[in-house]
Amino acid sequence: MTEEAIIASLVGPVGPGTPVGPGHDAAVLPGGVAWTVDTLVEGVHFAAPLTPEDVGWKSLMVSVSDLGAIGARPAWALLSLSLPRGDGAWVAGFANGFHEACRWSGVALVGGDTTRSPSGRFVSVSLGGPLVGPARTRGGARPGDELWVSGPLGAAGLGWRTPNPPPEAVRALARPEPPLAFALALAASNLASAAMDLSDGLSTDLPRLCAASGVGARVVSGDVPLHDVLIGRPDAWAHAVDGGDDYALLFTAPPTHHDRVLAAGARTMTHPRVIGSVTADPGVEVIGARWPGSAFRHFTGAPRA
Ligand SMILES: [Mg+2]
Repeated sequence: MTEEAIIASLVGPVGPGTPVGPGHDAAVLPGGVAWTVDTLVEGVHFAAPLTPEDVGWKSLMVSVSDLGAIGARPAWALLSLSLPRGDGAWVAGFANGFHEACRWSGVALVGGDTTRSPSGRFVSVSLGGPLVGPARTRGGARPGDELWVSGPLGAAGLGWRTPNPPPEAVRALARPEPPLAFALALAASNLASAAMDLSDGLSTDLPRLCAASGVGARVVSGDVPLHDVLIGRPDAWAHAVDGGDDYALLFTAPPTHHDRVLAAGARTMTHPRVIGSVTADPGVEVIGARWPGSAFRHFTGAPRA
């Protein structure tokens, strides 16, 4: 049994009063409050060139992204830090970035915990907030729906996968800005049938959404928006679909909602794009390209571990 499976076996049972349980971007409690938790580990989730300020910003934003995906307005954060002795200068920088992220997203820090770590830094943020419409999970996609992403992909992937990345790619990696206003506009109007945030890359996250919905998808590779910083690079597609850390919104919506989705984008200065469609056949088919990594992942329904 893997470590994850052992912990997963502890979860629940989720009662009928709990609208959304495990397997989605956030849990939704009775009364319509969503909660998520994320941990960043030094050397695994952050390292140079991220500054302490960047880590403070990003540690909140990864959770802001999850709450936006489920359709909840971020409101209250709990912060847990495990730090080596004598780490005041690092914490001061971290606090500046975290505070900046709280102001950006309208979040109040309402509690937390600080402990000593024998080595390395660990940052864990739990974030809650009220739903602005019906809970929007990964599980509602239906065959015939359009498949959308909220914006260009791949800059953050370039930022951590290549030596000496350009400053724009480092910025995307260090200072992600999830499309919160757009995600909430979609949620308030109940336009999307399913959604999740792109944290691990389209090639990993899309099969997860399909599995949760019991559907497949067809992606048109030429319609996947690439970040400007990737233009002209032969490895652009790999960074865009495999790089991760985009924190863009991946969602599905009936074609009848197409114009209203675009209007929600225009109102929130977001440029969502249709990249394909939802199919009844399970598995993800990519037209015009392959998922990087394996020639045999052209057709796959199985999310990677
Ligand atoms: Mg997520």
